[in-house]
Amino acid sequence: MRAYLSLGSNVGDRRAHLAGALATLAAGEPLRVSSVYVTEPVGGVAQDDFWNLVVELETSASPHELLARAQRAEADAGRTREVRWGPRTLDVDVLLVGDQVVDDEELTVPHPRLAERAFVLVPLAELAPELVADGQLAAAVGRVERLGTLEELR
Ligand code: ATP
Ligand code: MG
Ligand code: MG
Repeated sequence: MRAYLSLGSNVGDRRAHLAGALATLAAGEPLRVSSVYVTEPVGGVAQDDFWNLVVELETSASPHELLARAQRAEADAGRTREVRWGPRTLDVDVLLVGDQVVDDEELTVPHPRLAERAFVLVPLAELAPELVADGQLAAAVGRVERLGTLEELR
């Protein structure tokens, strides 16, 4: 099934943090990667702009397995958690896993804040326009500017 994960970085070498996570997230399964977008932080904490992208996985992994991959990628990037919605080397969130619904202490899928975030919806719409309604995009918050592909940013 198709799964979508959101990646963001606003500390250190943002391109390297995004690119470095892909192999861990894919774990050998087929992957498509959106362009990189510069996005303004949302949530009220003053901090540098983020670089965001979305990956699409063709996967047989469960939602919890994908969360484990996400957390491994964050740990590899040296992620520390201090301020909620604060600066981070890498954030990987599980957006969608097919049409599965999960809601427990560790994991909520679909991601509960997916629909309100332009930094998620714009790269998601690039990979899967059918998943994002026009009205959703229009209502989403935050400035989003396309930078280029990961390869172009090398
Ligand atoms: P937000 O969820 O608003 O984007 P965040 O990404 O900054 O916030 P984190 O500190 O990365 O939040 O994660 C906090 C907890 O959220 C994690 O420990 C994880 O167990 C939980 N979580 C719940 N649902 C998801 C999901 N769909 N993807 C990733 N983490 C999730
Ligand atoms: Mg997040
Ligand atoms: Mg997160």
